[in-house]
Amino acid sequence: MKIVMLGAPGAGKGTQAAMIAEKFGIPHISTGDIFRYNLKNGTELGKKAKEYMDQGLLVPDELTCEIVADRIFMDDCKNGYILDGFPRNISQGEYLTKVLREAGQKVDFAINVDVPDENIVVRMSGRRACPNCGATYHIVNIPPKKEGICDTCGSELIQRADDKAETVKKRLDVYHDATEPLIQFYKGLGVLYTVDGTKPMSEVFADITKILED
Ligand code: AMP
Repeated sequence: MKIVMLGAPGAGKGTQAAMIAEKFGIPHISTGDIFRYNLKNGTELGKKAKEYMDQGLLVPDELTCEIVADRIFMDDCKNGYILDGFPRNISQGEYLTKVLREAGQKVDFAINVDVPDENIVVRMSGRRACPNCGATYHIVNIPPKKEGICDTCGSELIQRADDKAETVKKRLDVYHDATEPLIQFYKGLGVLYTVDGTKPMSEVFADITKILED
């Protein structure tokens, strides 16, 4: 089962992807997480990615595509995987189609988590993250037990540079220009499924599970 998650940044696709990965026992591959891991560990890739991420821009395809191509052919991906944050533009979509085709494979489901822009801005500016263990919170929807402190490791929570209001607006522009056309792209491949991402998290999850199990 090879799944691609589509949707604006902040639509909740990361949360859904993690839940689906757990339910179906497949790896959750998030390019954003891969970049953040590299950033935290001060790798060359992390340093290069940072300048784009902090501005809400896409990291260039040369840096992104190869990482994904390496990851999706690892042993743990034999029964499938869920891609979260990739592809992010048509050229990445075409690249993925090509490397899969060369291996006699294809994307089985492209799940579009649909949320209007107005909801996105509110959601993202409330996000908080733990710089130490990576846990994520939302000041309204998933608040930590003690304000500003990570439940898991006790570190002080931060607002990621790319979740600040200015950057969120930029990321939405980038989403509409570069990423949204992938909806038509996957429709054309006959694997597009859209769910209403404004519903409560558990209902969105139930809707996606139904699509995958039907
Ligand atoms: P995310 O956590 O998926 O919202 O990603 C955070 C940031 O990482 C994005 O705003 C981009 O700067 C970068 N990024 C993640 N995935 C990609 C991708 N497939 N192509 C280019 N940049 C990406």
